[in-house]
Amino acid sequence: MNKITAYIGLGSNLATPKTQLLAAREAINALEGVSEQAFSSLYSSPPMGPQDQPDYVNAVMAIETTLPAITLLRNLQQIELAQGRERKDERWGARTLDLDIILYGEQLINETDLIVPHYGMATRAFVLYPLAEIAPFDLMIPEKGRLDDLLAACPLDGLVKLK
Ligand code: ATP
Ligand code: CA
Ligand code: CA
Ligand code: CA
Repeated sequence: MNKITAYIGLGSNLATPKTQLLAAREAINALEGVSEQAFSSLYSSPPMGPQDQPDYVNAVMAIETTLPAITLLRNLQQIELAQGRERKDERWGARTLDLDIILYGEQLINETDLIVPHYGMATRAFVLYPLAEIAPFDLMIPEKGRLDDLLAACPLDGLVKLK
């Protein structure tokens, strides 16, 4: 099977977020057909949307995978559920774990349940800065441009690298 390099964005702002991210890292690694290539530093970021919730902890993970993108998404959603993610009506509400597929090789995917590259990645500091730590600076992001150009145009927006 063809191996694809994919990038996963991890976020949490409930139930000891750092622990959630480290548990998710283990669970992703434990998936059949997935192996870790790199894991960024942890970052803290103010919430998007509703402000009456804790700050987030974010990271980006690079994986090599033989799973089709939609299968990868279903596996990531199972990990979210296993770590207590509750689906609420409110958009961008607090959650124990959010796992987004940021990139899947150089593929453009436009399915009902899956849009890749992730639609928000090009303007979200908490995705771009950790991504830039572990991806080549000249990475081409389909339909969005070069990673270093996106980064240069993206203010930190309160993002802080954690020690
Ligand atoms: P945002 O998508 O703005 O980051 P969110 O992560 O809070 O917000 P969710 O409620 O976690 O949004 O996901 C909503 C839906 O997004 C999911 O049901 C999933 O099918 C869909 N989706 C589309 N593209 C992706 C992707 N690249 N990665 C993860 N989910 C995606
Ligand atoms: Ca594995
Ligand atoms: Ca998200
Ligand atoms: Ca999500």
